[in-house]
Amino acid sequence: MQRVVSADLPPRRAVVLSSRQATREAARLAEAVDYLAAAYAHALARWLGDPVLRLVGRPIITECYRSAERQNELYAQGRTKPGPVVTYKRGGQSNHNLGPPTPALDVAFVLADGSVSWSALLLSRFARLVKAADARVRWGGDWKMLDRPHFEVPAGAVKGGPGHE
Ligand SMILES: [Zn+2]
Repeated sequence: MQRVVSADLPPRRAVVLSSRQATREAARLAEAVDYLAAAYAHALARWLGDPVLRLVGRPIITECYRSAERQNELYAQGRTKPGPVVTYKRGGQSNHNLGPPTPALDVAFVLADGSVSWSALLLSRFARLVKAADARVRWGGDWKMLDRPHFEVPAGAVKGGPGHE
């Protein structure tokens, strides 16, 4: 099917998720604290509405809730197990270990070639949209201990999750 493409844009399509990726994305978004999920969804809509950004890549949530066991496995990486250090927090210390609803989520981008990117440039661009959507969202890229894929809201705001008041 032929489609009309405006003259100043390359004839490329927006990056779309596979059905498997889309299912996972929905499940992870459902784990997040409601206003964090809303800020992400708002920023995503702005991103997909941008004629250039939508061609570059598609934001995805790589992780939201994380069990304490998984957190400890990640903590071991780069310390007692091979691989780079990916976290400074042990099981129970990360906002990812709360909930669901979970007050933290991690973002990456699916690129046009299907690969996944953690580009600092794309993450900072996306972070601007998320923070503009809701000023309560904190971005790990603003921290001294840089964690650009990471977005969170104050843990005290978590209500109604199992084990929380
Ligand atoms: Zn994170």
